Amino acid sequence: MKRRMIFVGPPGAGKGSQAKILANKLNIPHISTGDMFRMHLKSQTPLGILAKSYTDQGLLVPDDVTNDMVKVRLNESDVHDGFILDGYPRNPDQAQYLDQLVKDLGWAIDVVINVTSEDEVIIDRITGRRTCPVCGSIYHITNYPPKVEGICDKDGATLVQRKDDSRETITKRLEVYNNETFPLIAYYKSKGLLIDVDGNRDLEPVTKDILEILEQ
Ligand SMILES: [Zn+2]
Repeated sequence: MKRRMIFVGPPGAGKGSQAKILANKLNIPHISTGDMFRMHLKSQTPLGILAKSYTDQGLLVPDDVTNDMVKVRLNESDVHDGFILDGYPRNPDQAQYLDQLVKDLGWAIDVVINVTSEDEVIIDRITGRRTCPVCGSIYHITNYPPKVEGICDKDGATLVQRKDDSRETITKRLEVYNNETFPLIAYYKSKGLLIDVDGNRDLEPVTKDILEILEQ
């Protein structure tokens, strides 16, 4: 069974949820870049302090800092049985670094799962979200509407659309993702490691498809 894997996919297609579900089912760690950065920041490690010196200036964290964090993580004992990388690698340079790193550890990446969804579907899903400014409840105008339109079921507050959920913001994020990820997808395709999974369904059938791929 394939147990060393990378999850890629656009924001809003369900990649993170699937990574969490599969990590639980397979009892292997879900290694997300976001969690890794937060851990280093919270523990004030040298890598965390270095990363913060860039983000504080509004700069991207350089590849070698992120690579070093992944190196530290993949040398921990809980990854011996497998792992799911989520949010890393982001570009072919990082992918090449990762190839060498896992090779040095005596392993290889078994598969890259690409959780896909059409841009329009993602845009509908995200722009339909409505949030309660009082209690933080999240609704969706068609998939999960409140009992009274525009009003929170729990406290009667007027629901709002967060700025992150606006059409403008999500369109921009998808554009950035598509441009950034294209060469990475091409890299793994050329290695025969990339498998597309249609993320535009309920969580369960998507999980089932991924499990089948891992068992092949
Ligand atoms: Zn509320």
